Amino acid sequence: MPNHRPITGRLVIATHNSGKLAEMRELLAPYGIEAVSAGELNLPEPDETGTTFAANARIKAAAAANATGLPAFADDSGLCVDALDGQPGIYSARWAGPSKDFMAAMAQIERLLQERGATEPAQRKAHFVSALCVAWPDGHIEEVEERVNGTMVWPPRGDAGFGYDPAFLPDGHTRTFGEMTSVEKHGLPPLGLGLSHRAKAFVKLAEICLGR
Ligand code: IMP
Repeated sequence: MPNHRPITGRLVIATHNSGKLAEMRELLAPYGIEAVSAGELNLPEPDETGTTFAANARIKAAAAANATGLPAFADDSGLCVDALDGQPGIYSARWAGPSKDFMAAMAQIERLLQERGATEPAQRKAHFVSALCVAWPDGHIEEVEERVNGTMVWPPRGDAGFGYDPAFLPDGHTRTFGEMTSVEKHGLPPLGLGLSHRAKAFVKLAEICLGR
């Protein structure tokens, strides 16, 4: 791992989102990393003032590393719809409002797509992005970013996963993320090479920081 710092021992997962925490724990488990969450440690949530996924991941990871003295791992992710100029993008969580109503957020995307006449699958292209960052208390960081391409479908299908999963059909598949088990959605080795944005970013991070 030239110039990359390995992750060992305890790691803080800098998220207060239970859906993402569950996914990250699943993804870290095979590597024997003991993960404790920022929510469990009652760490304050920093304001996500960055203008990119990578900048927001860095803000969250650095805040948790500074508060705990442990290496901290953060993800910033979201859905970018091509016909909506990349919206909701870094505002994906905020589009669901304080009540985290993702049905309403998916309906809002659909309304805007209809307004723009985007009725054919080719006009409804979108991608999820995952930026991952590990920050150490001494300021060292490791970061990766990956995406998964797909198409927005309406009505939403399936009740697995979280967030915008039911309205997102990944390229090359016939079922939405909401219709897939988490194993299928991640598509991780040895079954696959990573399907979801987060799993693909994770595979890349594991290559550079976990020696796999
Ligand atoms: P943040 O990264 O916590 O700022 O929020 C990202 C938001 O993007 C989540 O709350 C979800 O709405 C959405 N999102 C990110 N990844 C996924 C995914 O894998 N499935 C569905 N929605 C996602």
